[in-house]
Amino acid sequence: MAVIAFIGLGNMGGPMAANLVKAGHAVHGFDLSEAAKAAAAARGVSLAVSAAEAVKAADVVVTMLPSGPHVLGAVTGADGLFAAARPGTLFIDSSTIDVESARAFHAGAEAAGMASLDAPVSGGVGGAEAGTLTFMAGGSEAAFSAAKPHLERMGKKIVHCGGAGAGQAAKICNNMILGISMIAVSEAFVLGEKLGLSHQALFDVASTSSGQCWSLTTYCPVPGPVPTSPANREYQPGFAAALMLKDLKLSQQAADQAGAATRLGAEAAALYSAFEAEGNAGRDFSGIIEWIRARTA
Ligand code: NAD
Repeated sequence: MAVIAFIGLGNMGGPMAANLVKAGHAVHGFDLSEAAKAAAAARGVSLAVSAAEAVKAADVVVTMLPSGPHVLGAVTGADGLFAAARPGTLFIDSSTIDVESARAFHAGAEAAGMASLDAPVSGGVGGAEAGTLTFMAGGSEAAFSAAKPHLERMGKKIVHCGGAGAGQAAKICNNMILGISMIAVSEAFVLGEKLGLSHQALFDVASTSSGQCWSLTTYCPVPGPVPTSPANREYQPGFAAALMLKDLKLSQQAADQAGAATRLGAEAAALYSAFEAEGNAGRDFSGIIEWIRARTA
């Protein structure tokens, strides 16, 4: 069994670390939040006094932090985790961060003699709890092979997407599809309402026709057709609009840098930005349908 350091024990990291404990690993955790640490300790994670202390004897270090600056701030520099860990330690960053920061993470790891993988996830808090996350990984074949048995304890689908940063690239491309498709499905339901079409009739047709997509069949933005979707609980997340906006901004940042034409992605980011500005950051992202409906004459 491996010694694993887990840095960032929040909504996602806490249950992910708990699944590594369940697999029989010695998991040394650290978080800046006392509440996150207490919750993780209750699930069998042994707490370290600092992140540097947590990684000292680790074979594998997993980071699950909010954004690129948090990750680079934690791992780089004279008092960062690359300096504190033993040479050859495998660093897995599962946070959703920008592609440029992910590449800097890999470059820093290589310079320090560490192995590294960017491995963001899809599947939300429910997937983290159940150990059914999808991991999309970027890095060398050797790093991927070494990480895979550990990722399999936290997820059920593990995809090697390519070299450094490829996991983050796949994540933001997927979530750009998600943001755009949720708006498309919401606009279709609002148009259907104006045309006198029932929600169920539109669902029955589109879910078995060419309009079929995850935003419709799993996460339907109107109550009724999919009883488990957040629309049935007044848009409690689920996947909060603030996280959707974060990912759409990351995809637009990457598109600008890469020179890709993503006009619908840009429009989706603008709509979610306006939605968030009206106090909806903590609501499920499928609540955008109410914002669209409110603008319909
Ligand atoms: P969270 O805010 O619940 O957890 C982040 C944790 O990191 C917090 O507990 C915070 O105290 C801790 N932290 C920040 N800086 C730190 C540092 N320097 N050292 C130690 N701990 C530090 O966020 P989350 O929902 O767990 O998300 C984590 C990452 O996963 C984000 O990048 C997010 O975009 C991504 N993600 C989230 C979801 C989701 O549904 N919540 C789904 C997929 C991906």
